[in-house]
Amino acid sequence: MTMQGIDLSTVRNIGIAAHIDAGKTTTTERILFYTGRKHKLGETHEGAATMDWMEQERERGITITSAATTCFWGDCLINIIDTPGHVDFTVEVERSMRVLDGAVSVFCAVGGVEPQSETVWRQADKYGVPRIAFVNKMDRVGADFFAVVDQMRKRLGAKAVPIQIPIGVEDGFTGMVDLVHEKAVIYDDSLGTEFHSADIPPQLEEEAALARMEMLEMLADYDDEMMELYLEGGEIPLEMVKRVIRKATISLDIVPVMCGSAFKNKGVQPLLDAVVAYLPSPLDMPHVVAVDPDDTSKEIEVKASADEPFAALAFKIMVDPFVGRLAFCRVYSGSIESGTSIYNTNTRRRERVGRILRMHANKREEMDSAQAGLIVAIPGLKQVRTGDTLCDEKHPVLLENLIFPEPVISLSVEPMSKADQIKLAKGLEALSEEDPTFRVSVNEDTGQTLISGMGELHLEIIVDRLRREFNVEVKVGRPQVAYREAIRKPARAQGKFVRQSGGKGQYGDVVLEVEPLEDGKGFEWVDKIVGGVVPKEYIPAAQ
Ligand code: GDP
Repeated sequence: MTMQGIDLSTVRNIGIAAHIDAGKTTTTERILFYTGRKHKLGETHEGAATMDWMEQERERGITITSAATTCFWGDCLINIIDTPGHVDFTVEVERSMRVLDGAVSVFCAVGGVEPQSETVWRQADKYGVPRIAFVNKMDRVGADFFAVVDQMRKRLGAKAVPIQIPIGVEDGFTGMVDLVHEKAVIYDDSLGTEFHSADIPPQLEEEAALARMEMLEMLADYDDEMMELYLEGGEIPLEMVKRVIRKATISLDIVPVMCGSAFKNKGVQPLLDAVVAYLPSPLDMPHVVAVDPDDTSKEIEVKASADEPFAALAFKIMVDPFVGRLAFCRVYSGSIESGTSIYNTNTRRRERVGRILRMHANKREEMDSAQAGLIVAIPGLKQVRTGDTLCDEKHPVLLENLIFPEPVISLSVEPMSKADQIKLAKGLEALSEEDPTFRVSVNEDTGQTLISGMGELHLEIIVDRLRREFNVEVKVGRPQVAYREAIRKPARAQGKFVRQSGGKGQYGDVVLEVEPLEDGKGFEWVDKIVGGVVPKEYIPAAQ
């Protein structure tokens, strides 16, 4: 058991964001390796708590699940929140953006800024997530660090500030000059197993001096004291450079840019140092504003302090092959203790927290408690769904609900044999609990089960998971669009589920947003159905 009395300034909740193929998985693997929590490179499948644990993700090269893994670097505790890279799952990216305090954006040194990296970047902007950029694959033919920096400035509008420059490129990429410490990091072999700190190589002295000057000039804009020294031409102390980089990164003014080759084990340790030095701790982040569940116009500030009432957001429900259903939660205030009860604001139900777990790359750690700022996994919460607020019953709050977009595509699924009907229903229920952008309904005319999601790939993956995880083969119909029409609710049935006119309606566990129809005779369901298999009676007869 581990007691939590942690100094929050040493905690970093970060995501590793990238478009597919930039090297997010490799970078994450290397981070877990260097933080000592993994023993062999490439062993991502041992145990349950690995980042890309689904066989399928491996095959497709995409990351679908979003979980959190805890590791340590020096005195710091780093929670790595997995952020999916595929565009079909941007809602999952958004969800993880909400619960992290900072991110490492991985770019490919050859491909640079691609349309998908732009999408991920905009999401991080939207949630005000401070970032460090890591230009990966410096060993590849055609790698160009400065071209990527230039693209970040032009295409992403980022104030990209290189704090390193590469030493060599492609086969000759051997390390980087650290412009902050005015030192070089040299990797001694092509696999990057050994490295040492050295003076800046003579052939790079001039380039490094210019790059450092450019860095200081950009930084000085964000600090008067530094600007004064810079204009006087005085020596700028190391501590000041670091302080200003940290300040300007956290205020979203700049993005420090680093480089390396995760695959060749180069640049990952300096990247971890930078995560600690420049990305925010939970204490650096603004207070979260929640609302009073009984009067949503009333705002309540949720402070990241252990002395405040408990409030947490369940940001991911996952089925762990060993522990079962896990609710990954970010604690926003107060603390949670094992053996106590928590109140779910969304379902208005109390549930007991038997155990609290922290997931490492190769083990689960049992905790007595977890305080504000931390991310933990709670097993055994049966009612909690993605996006629910967990809190202290005496001080109920509703942390802003995650908004999930409407599914854009649906298809019918039918078990190959009648005997599989129950297995199919169970599988669909579990999957829809895990993934709020995935919905299940029944077409009343045909009696067919319809599954709806964010794109064809999304549904393909669901069908694949039904086969692998629930052992049920299904016949799949043709994809159709316009799910929205299918859930229009006729006026006569309105009383069944609508608790209030407009706002939220509730039926069992399913929370819906409803909007009055223009003729005033009923309601239309709008964007949000928070989890759950949509009960059959929700589906209207033909109108
Ligand atoms: P993800 O889709 O962003 O998670 O990317 P992966 O980490 O799976 O990497 C995609 C491909 O690029 C894999 O074949 C990796 O082996 C390769 N890769 C990742 N990092 C590097 C690197 O630094 N250099 C080179 N040459 N290849 C890399």
